[in-house]
Order: sequence, then structure tokens, then C-alpha cells
Amino acid sequence: MKKRITAAVVICLLCGLGLIADDAIDSDMNWKIRREETDHSQIMRLVHRLTDVYGPRLTGSPNFKAACEWSIEQMKQWGMQNEHLEQWDFAHPGWAGDKYSIRVRSPYQDTLDARVVAWTPSTKGAVRAQVVQIDLPARPTEESLTNYLNSIVEKVHDRIVLAGAPAAMPILFNPAAKRREDSEVSTQFSPDNPSPPAPPRSPEQPTNGPKPLEPREIDEKVDAFLLASGALVKVSDAARDHGQIRVFANRTYNASKAVPSIVIRNEDYGRICRILADATPVEMEIEIVNSIYPDELNSYNAVAEIPGTDKKDQVVMMGAHIDSWHAGTGATDNAAGVAVMMEAARVLQKLGVKPRRTIRVALWGGEEQGLLGSKAYVKDHFGTFEAPKPEFSTLAAYLNVDSGTGRVRGAFVFGPPEAAAVVRRILEPFQDLGVMGASPTKSRSHGGTDSTSFNWAGLAGITFAQDPIEYQTFTWHTDLDTYDAVLEGDLKQSAIVVAAAVYQLAMRDEMIPRFTADSMPAPEK
Ligand SMILES: [Zn+2]
Repeated sequence: MKKRITAAVVICLLCGLGLIADDAIDSDMNWKIRREETDHSQIMRLVHRLTDVYGPRLTGSPNFKAACEWSIEQMKQWGMQNEHLEQWDFAHPGWAGDKYSIRVRSPYQDTLDARVVAWTPSTKGAVRAQVVQIDLPARPTEESLTNYLNSIVEKVHDRIVLAGAPAAMPILFNPAAKRREDSEVSTQFSPDNPSPPAPPRSPEQPTNGPKPLEPREIDEKVDAFLLASGALVKVSDAARDHGQIRVFANRTYNASKAVPSIVIRNEDYGRICRILADATPVEMEIEIVNSIYPDELNSYNAVAEIPGTDKKDQVVMMGAHIDSWHAGTGATDNAAGVAVMMEAARVLQKLGVKPRRTIRVALWGGEEQGLLGSKAYVKDHFGTFEAPKPEFSTLAAYLNVDSGTGRVRGAFVFGPPEAAAVVRRILEPFQDLGVMGASPTKSRSHGGTDSTSFNWAGLAGITFAQDPIEYQTFTWHTDLDTYDAVLEGDLKQSAIVVAAAVYQLAMRDEMIPRFTADSMPAPEK
């Protein structure tokens, strides 16, 4: 109660002094948001639905679409409006892994843990064969890779192929920090802290001599080679410690361009390679069954709104990607972010807010394949600063959470320093929850998450820095990314901060300041 009185007094004082009413924070609403989320949170129920019930939500898979449909139905039940799935062109068929088994049959017997590479084909029944290991040249050029592959055609024919040398995983003596110190975060987001210079661009490769191939090119060449040479299965090293398995996709998204492919634990991969190195033959048996959905070439973003009032044509957006990789159940990447955004909307809806601007939730598909859903949305709705559509001028800001389960600690705001200053003032009442400020960014490059689709277009993308917890060390894209890796208290804190920030941005007289024609940085290629 004390907080409320203080807040009311402060607001009155500001009005009395004739300060800009636009900067007044509705402390009463902040307090109500905290109470609703603290006393009646549904956030873990949302995480449960996304991770346990729908599970991995690979773009184009049935699970993904079912989760999208559930999310808009849920937001509708809370009273949100204009809920719909917005289609975009994925241009690839859907894919889902149905079952696999992978066993060492000789010289020892073991059933291995593994994950199947997405958009690769099934085996023709159970395949039992000798195992060979190939050692790709380091940083190969087109020529050196082709020469090497030509030399091993006979070796891989009718074989199960271990692709590459096992990674040497160092044993770490110092565990990574799970939380960041307040002092460090507040220095980072202090207005006095000049924004760090952009990291130096890696120097262009000297033009003399052939260029090393990109990892994507190496993958495609090796896959095409294994297919043409009659290899049976490609087995890859997860190259992670503590048995984690991280798996992605055949980058062509075309199952006819790869052999059946599977990733196993570094520990198992190393064991098999060491035995092969003794000149002892190894035999494995692998069966993989996947489904391909050739009619499902589109994907979706899930959208719902709390309509605005006197400024309803202007929009404050908040979002997170609802798709995931398929090794785990996509909990910290990014059911956590989706649950934060949905819960923030639920809290505002429950409090019966009547925001001046429309508040819109967007849950993106295709983030993991290159921000595809948010890029398509920004293109369709907003265009760019250089080639704007009519809606371009109506977007106040887009807020994004996509760095795991850790509580939010600060915000990066695309825009001039005055834009970050507005967000900093809005976040100030949440210092007790560990939120330390906001910094401007003028990067218009497509980065690691959906807010950069907005930045790239010249729109006010806002993304949150979060405590790391176990994101980079254990959960990001791994089989350990499950419900268990999510911290309830951290998600509640994030939902409170996001709900308050979105509400205050929807209520201000003015939209947050934007770059002008003179100050707008150029978009990066
Ligand atoms: Zn993510």
C-alpha cells in the first residue's frame, strides 16, 4: 500500500510542477500488474502446454501448427480480439521425426541416444552395416574437399558413415555464471555508458588463393557426395559436453538431397572412433522413420490484439518465436518467451486495461530457419524506412524476449538515445526486480532474433538482455531444453516487466522517438 501512496504523490507532484505529463508512469497500474502476476500467475501452465503437450515445434510440423492454433484460441478465451493465424510462404514441405533406433551390434552391444537431422529421409527399414569414419579436411576449399571426397568413394559405399573426427570436449573447472551481477548490468545499461563500438569486421579474405567453403557449402557437398556414393546413413557427433545432443536440419530442406542422418552423443561418437582406430571393425544397426508433409508449404504467425481506444490505429507489438528445434521440447528457446508474452497479455486483459494504442501479440514461426515469420510480417505490413507501407508510421515499438529462461535485466532499443531514454524511464520502477536500464542501438543487421527484423526495416525493435542461467551451457537447441529447465520466478518477473512496458508505451501521448531521415542508419545487406 505504501508504494501506491508514494506513486500517487509523485504523479501529482509532477503534474503540479508542469512537467511533461507524457513521462508520467502509471504506478498504480504497475502495482496491479505485479499483484496479478504474483498472486494468479498462469505462466507455468502456458509453458506446460507448449512444451509437454505440443512438444518440439519445428516449423512446418503438425506440432507447430497445433501449438499456434492453441495459442490464438487461448488468447481469444482471455478476451483478446482479432486472433488469427497469418500465413507466410515457407516454400518447403513440413517434416517430423516419428521414430528411430540406433544400436552398436559389434564389437559391443549398446543402444545409443540420438536425434534425427530434420528434413532428412527415413532409412529403408532397419539398416545393419559396417561403420567407417571419414576425416574431412579442416577449412576445405572447393578443390581440396572435392579431391578428398573423390578419394573415399569406395570407402563409404554401403556403409554407415561417421562424418568427421570426434570433437575433443575440455573438462571445465570453472562453472559458467548463471546470473549477472547488478553492478555489471547497470554499468552496461547506464546512459553514461557510451554504446560500445561495433565489433570490428573480420578482414576480407585475401583474394590470392581459393576461398575456404562456408559450413553450409561443406554440408551440402558432403550430403550430395554420400548420396551419390551409396552411403547408408550419416552419423554426426553432437560435439557437446555431458551427453547433450544439439541437432539442426539438412539445410536444403529437401529430403531427397541427403542420406538418412542422425546425431549421437560426443561420448558415444568418440568411443566408436577410438575402437575403429584400433583397426577393430564396428557394426551398427539403424532404423529411422520420418514423415514429410509435401502439401504443407506455408507456415504461420499467431496474432491477437487488445484493441486500443483514442489511438487505436497505432500499435505496440510484443512477440516471441513459437517454433523450436526438435531435440528437446523448445522450453527455453522459446516457449519461455512465448509464455512471457502471452502471460503479459493475459495480465493486461485480466486487469481490464483500455490502452490508448492497440496492443498486439505476434508469435512467430520460422525463426530458427532465419527469422522467416517476422521478416515476412514486417515486409507485408510495414515495408522499410526507405520503402514504407502505410502501417510503417503506426508501429510504436516491438518488444521481444528470446534468450532463455533468465529474468530480463535491460533492454536494447533500436532508435536514437532519446528512444532508449523513454524505455529506461518506463523500466526504472523495476530495479528491485533486477532491471537495470536500456541502451540504444543503431544496428540494422539481421541478428539472432525477431526484433532485428524490425530494426532492419528501421522500426523500433526492443529486445531484452536476460540472465544467462543455463542457456548457452546446456539448453540452447539441445535435447535438455525441456520444461525442467525453466525457472518460474524468472518468467514471472519477465512477464511483469513486459506487461508494464507494453502498457506504458501504449498510453504515452507520443510514440517513442525515431531516427529522422538524416540520422537513420543504412540497412545492412
Ligand atoms: Zn530462439
